[in-house]
Amino acid sequence: MPGVTCAFDLEHYRELLEAARTGGYRFAFFDQEPEPGDLLLRHDVDLSLAAAVELAQVEHELGAGSTYFLMTESVFYNLNSLEGIRALERLRELGHRVGLHAVWPRAELDSRFAPLVAWHNPQPEYMSEPLQGATNVMDPRFFSPANYRSDSNQHWRHGCPHKDLATERFEWLQLLTHPEIWVYPGETMGETMLAMLDAERERRLEQLRADRIDV
Ligand SMILES: [Zn+2]
Ligand SMILES: [Zn+2]
Repeated sequence: MPGVTCAFDLEHYRELLEAARTGGYRFAFFDQEPEPGDLLLRHDVDLSLAAAVELAQVEHELGAGSTYFLMTESVFYNLNSLEGIRALERLRELGHRVGLHAVWPRAELDSRFAPLVAWHNPQPEYMSEPLQGATNVMDPRFFSPANYRSDSNQHWRHGCPHKDLATERFEWLQLLTHPEIWVYPGETMGETMLAMLDAERERRLEQLRADRIDV
């Protein structure tokens, strides 16, 4: 792939998905144990539903299905708000699945979620522990260091996986990415967060107007 920059932006996210296709990977979900050739796209939505929906659209365009993990206890968004309800609907319409991004020790699933749990900022003691009535996506069936990559804090600990996907280096892979990192511009996590806050300001102003506040 000539000219590929490995930037954390939507262009390179598309390239990652295309690399997966080149490597012959299949988009898979957490409903059965991964088989060779499976790529499990996972998104933990920590901060922005708008970013999740935007990334979901890109995946849909490229025929990729993924699993979004949404929070019910986020300080950044409200899944019970109209925005939250619409985001959930939209993710499903686009062919994706939705699990719970839970805050330890509560994993209270309801009808909005498939029985899938990803802990937010987990500690090693409980990270991979089995759950009653739900699948922990960090269960050893779905997680081993050789079959896992994450963009945590806008940094790939083992390098960007696009090359290894294109050359079929992973038997299967769980790829965790955070939509905010790819949707908002910035060379570092700090810059990306500031760009997100700028966008949030505009969104909040619109919400104020919608709430009939003079701004
Ligand atoms: Zn790359
Ligand atoms: Zn999280």
